[in-house]
Amino acid sequence: MYANRMSQLPPYLFARIDEMKARKIQSGVDVIDLGVGDPDLPTPAHIVESLCESARLTENHHYPSYAGMPGFRKAVADWYRNRFGVVSDPGKEVLALMGSKDGIAHIGEAFVNPGDYVLAASPGYPVYRTGTLFAEGRVHEMPLTAENSFIPLLEDIPKEVARKSKLLFFNYPNNPTSAVVTSGFFEEVVDFCREYDIVAVHDNPYSEIAFDGYRAPSFLSTDGAMEIGVEMHSLSKTYNMTGWRIGMAVGNAEVIAGLGRVKTNVDSGVFNAVQHAAITALSGSQDCVTDACRVYQERRDILVKGLRSLGYEVGAPKATFYVWMAVEDCMSFAARMLEDAGIVVTPGIGFGDGGDGYVRFALTRTKERIGEAIRRMEAIGE
Ligand SMILES: *Cc1c(COP(=O)(O)O)cnc(C)c1O
Repeated sequence: MYANRMSQLPPYLFARIDEMKARKIQSGVDVIDLGVGDPDLPTPAHIVESLCESARLTENHHYPSYAGMPGFRKAVADWYRNRFGVVSDPGKEVLALMGSKDGIAHIGEAFVNPGDYVLAASPGYPVYRTGTLFAEGRVHEMPLTAENSFIPLLEDIPKEVARKSKLLFFNYPNNPTSAVVTSGFFEEVVDFCREYDIVAVHDNPYSEIAFDGYRAPSFLSTDGAMEIGVEMHSLSKTYNMTGWRIGMAVGNAEVIAGLGRVKTNVDSGVFNAVQHAAITALSGSQDCVTDACRVYQERRDILVKGLRSLGYEVGAPKATFYVWMAVEDCMSFAARMLEDAGIVVTPGIGFGDGGDGYVRFALTRTKERIGEAIRRMEAIGE
């Protein structure tokens, strides 16, 4: 019944973990879920209020424009200028997305012919791979290793693969490794993509979730980046708006136009009231973002300190709400954590073979629950 490509879709590991978790809860276990990359904090009240007001207006009840309301695109361009010093034309270089996942899943259809390569990291966000699959392209995996600070080595990509590559996906601050970009990497990407005529796609949804004074850059601030690439960004993680489905692509006008043309044929844009709320989020006070980072940082410190007290070697991430930890066998570690301690962690292999030997903890639960998780780990002799 199903098309061939269905057999290549990953057996979505996260769905399987959800099943195991549901069974545990059903049997009465108080499960602590440190698996989900979804903020537990609410969307800030002024943003919710803005949605409520806009939702009441009939003028917002119709089909939205495909590319996003001019006011939303201008708010994105202004935010990019204020935050990163990136100048963009809201008419041609900004596109509204139904979350950054929307842009990632569909950009391949605009640029990849059957058999072309797409370069993506392993471990990495699974949608780089599935988007490529839908376009009938092939993924060339760039391994991320601790030795390389979880940054791909572009010089390791075989020349014949590079010549047949259409897209390069990269993501810093990184999910799942929580690595931040090292100096010079974005410049290398520009040179590499220029040499091989590849569209650079930087996925940057965690730029605002940062600690200890770290400020994550935009790829678009790199000289020449606007000529060869785009950045996918999102309100999901910055403003706790994962359920609202709104994000943006910013960058090269031709790339934006290609993605926009695909999207015109598959969706009909983002609800105008949600776009109005997004304008409120981007142009209002950013104190809510600072507050959220303070909360995550406190949780990070409790988790990292706790894991170290149990004998694990683990770094304190500068950004993202994840802690990436080396373990002997990620599947058996995750299974043992759920079975014996009622804790959900994500086995690294769910992000590709390069994630084997690691697990990911998400800081999306309260510090009390994270503290409790450490106590349970101690109790089972972890
Ligand atoms: C969360 C996430 C996204 C998708 O977020 P949206 O809600 O679709 O904006 C994209 N990439 C990475 C790496 C993520 O972690």
